[in-house]
Amino acid sequence: MTGIAISAHTLPLDNAFAALPPAFYTRLMPTPLPAPYFIAASAPAASLIGLDAARLAEPDYVELLSGNTVAERSIPLSAVYSGHQFGVWAGQLGDGRAILLGDIATQNGPMELQLKGAGATPYSRMGDGRAVLRSSIREFLCSEAMAALGIPTSRALAIMGSQQGIMRETLETAAVVTRMAPSFVRFGSFEHWFYRKKPDELKILADYIIDGFYPHLRAASNPYQGLLAEVCVRTAELMAQWQAVGFMHGVMNTDNMSILGLTIDYGPFGFMEAFDAEHICNHTDQQGRYSYSNQPQVGHWNCYALGQALLPLIGEVEEAQAALDSYQPAFAAKMNALLRAKLGLRTAHDEDTQLFDGMFALMQANHVDFTQFFRSLSALRVAEPESDAPLRDMFIDRAAFDTWAASYRARLLQEHSVDTERQVAMNLVNPKYVLRNYLAQVAIEKSQQHDYTEVAKLLEILQKPFDEQPEHQHYAALPPDWASHLEVSCSS
Ligand code: AMP
Ligand code: MG
Repeated sequence: MTGIAISAHTLPLDNAFAALPPAFYTRLMPTPLPAPYFIAASAPAASLIGLDAARLAEPDYVELLSGNTVAERSIPLSAVYSGHQFGVWAGQLGDGRAILLGDIATQNGPMELQLKGAGATPYSRMGDGRAVLRSSIREFLCSEAMAALGIPTSRALAIMGSQQGIMRETLETAAVVTRMAPSFVRFGSFEHWFYRKKPDELKILADYIIDGFYPHLRAASNPYQGLLAEVCVRTAELMAQWQAVGFMHGVMNTDNMSILGLTIDYGPFGFMEAFDAEHICNHTDQQGRYSYSNQPQVGHWNCYALGQALLPLIGEVEEAQAALDSYQPAFAAKMNALLRAKLGLRTAHDEDTQLFDGMFALMQANHVDFTQFFRSLSALRVAEPESDAPLRDMFIDRAAFDTWAASYRARLLQEHSVDTERQVAMNLVNPKYVLRNYLAQVAIEKSQQHDYTEVAKLLEILQKPFDEQPEHQHYAALPPDWASHLEVSCSS
């Protein structure tokens, strides 16, 4: 594809989802955004669909990606889905502020383009169909940061802004994020047809997903059971990847769970700073249903909800149960593999669980910064206790740290670990830079004053999270005092 030549109007879109029967969506036009302007674009996301990010700041793309014009080949629509919210069946939800423009063929298959915040839809319920600049910047930056961390996620192509006022707790301004994913179908998309007792639609949707994204399952004796099993494994592995970087989603409702095992629907997410396994990143989640330590079991619960919905297609409860049983071992295997890599261990030992448990207990008791701890751990030298100093200083209880460090050293000696090699390997899996809330907040506040340079700069740093980037050292710093008052909630 010769990216630069493609005008917004002639974007080579296909419309695979629109080829489903009309019951799956409502066709509609985005609501124009008054006087839109360019805020940011992601070069790696743009290149995925053969576009040059610089082009996205030009008027034809600003108009397209704010919903003010529609590409020639686009069949815009909003999809219907339902879901369990905070454990309770919520009935019909749907794309209340997202409009799918179509999909673009890439080397790795089709990529759907969706405008988030493009106006009211039949699924908006009480909402206004808009997204504020604040939440759009957070979704944009985090999508691209997660991708750079190697974690399955929807992508973010660009943000367009407007001076249009949007009422939340205070008056804010509107923005539109263009997100991309091979599909935005959710667990809740299946639950929708199950609870409506529509087995034909349920089957059409499952076949669409299998044929488009899990084609190898056609050869399985029970492709629907196969689908459930694969989604369980992908979800379990995704949960392990979240835990391993300290990512908390905040709203793990079944309507926010991707059928492809991607991180989607970024809202009140957070990255763990001072370690607390019970940390709740979403201010609205008073019970802590989606706390850090609960995420893996919530992922499993959500798979049960999906299994329930797929049951009419799978057949026997035992077959669904067998598929669901793949969740726990997949999570444990992935989590252990990721933790070994984080600690620079090349071999697997049964006693490693004790080493990991001891480490988390120590981190918990000392409220150690998650990202800094793992990054600093790579500098430890097996035969040089004094190499610990910066790491050891993170702990109030130095003696407890020394005990754990001794067991870690013994473990490293056991596998003849080489300090320099281990450090290189550990720095490839333990990021130095993550999207801390305060970093996002600084970028948001500057953007609210029409200075978008910080969004671009943060994006650039977060696209290389494992690189030292000494010139950006301060972006790896602990949150300043003012940040302890930051709260994020479902309102976005
Ligand atoms: P969430 O949990 O934030 O992903 O959203 C839950 C549901 O509320 C989805 O159906 C969204 O489309 C819908 N929703 C959230 N915010 C808005 C809004 N401002 N306008 C319309 N619908 C919204
Ligand atoms: Mg959602």
